[in-house]
Amino acid sequence: MFTRTQTRELRIGSLPLGGGAPVSVQTMTTADPHDAVALTAQIQRCAACGADLVRLTVPDVEAARVLGEVRKLSPVPLVADIHFDYRCALASIEAGADALRLNPGNIGGAENVRAVARAAQAKGVPIRVGVNAGSLEKGETLVSSALKHVKLLEDEGFRDIAISVKASDVPRTVAAYRELAEKTDCPLHLGVTEAGTFLPGTVRSSVALGILLAEGIGDTIRVSLTDEPEREVKVGLEILRALELRAPGPSVTSCPTCGRTRVDVRRVAEEVEAALEAWCARNSGKKCPHVAVMGCAVNGPGEAKDADIALCGGDGEFLLYVHGQPVRKVPPTEAVAAVLATLP
Ligand code: SF4
Repeated sequence: MFTRTQTRELRIGSLPLGGGAPVSVQTMTTADPHDAVALTAQIQRCAACGADLVRLTVPDVEAARVLGEVRKLSPVPLVADIHFDYRCALASIEAGADALRLNPGNIGGAENVRAVARAAQAKGVPIRVGVNAGSLEKGETLVSSALKHVKLLEDEGFRDIAISVKASDVPRTVAAYRELAEKTDCPLHLGVTEAGTFLPGTVRSSVALGILLAEGIGDTIRVSLTDEPEREVKVGLEILRALELRAPGPSVTSCPTCGRTRVDVRRVAEEVEAALEAWCARNSGKKCPHVAVMGCAVNGPGEAKDADIALCGGDGEFLLYVHGQPVRKVPPTEAVAAVLATLP
């Protein structure tokens, strides 16, 4: 286990952030910010996938009113994403937002910062200062820009602050968060911005966030993908599970297959994975099993010893193992049912 960097503790609705609280996973909606029905459905799907926190853009005061409606039905706390217009921040706080993402240097001067800081303080609403490499002013670095925004809030006596400093590549992202972790005790929201489509975005985010989390840096993560928010949540959870910062979820080990393979390992592994995910969601109090799907007897029996359940491929059929013991042969079409039948 990694030693976490100590940060100040905030509370976003019911969710603790920083101060040693578990690293949370968040995402952002893509639905129309004026469509309460679509937003609610998307937030519920994200929560069902395991999101701890969801952010919504609030481009105008009407969207803040919609956020208030959506908040009543949301199973997780909601963050209002504000750019430039402090009235959207005030309206979001009033409507019930659990946190804001806002850069106080961009909302039109000290009076407006004071108004937002006071309203947020009164309702216990934290603010995340979020700086991206694409929006820096001349001469600024990610860290200097973030700390400039933070100072504007702290000058108003506001301290419930989280920070993000995202670049679109791994080296700059890692360097910025390392520097920031040295300079502040605010909880850090980790992410690579504009990370890309599913595959490159997943790899970039996993590498950057993996390095930082393994160094104890980071209190909440968002994997930004040009994809569905639910997939961002799933990747975020897998990153935390890979680092053992989250309890294991559905876990399928499968071999890459080779010229020896005489069964459709890929299809069966994918079907088993989907079935396990559904089983684990239905049985949240139970331990998710580790299942191995292997192509042949070269590595199959060895993997079967480590797994709760294993399917070891033969010539057109699998041998089912439970806790390392061979049980019976099953045809590929019955493989998923055979695995599920062994679960408590
Ligand atoms: Fe090939 Fe067997 Fe190894 Fe799978 S377990 S990659 S089928 S040798």
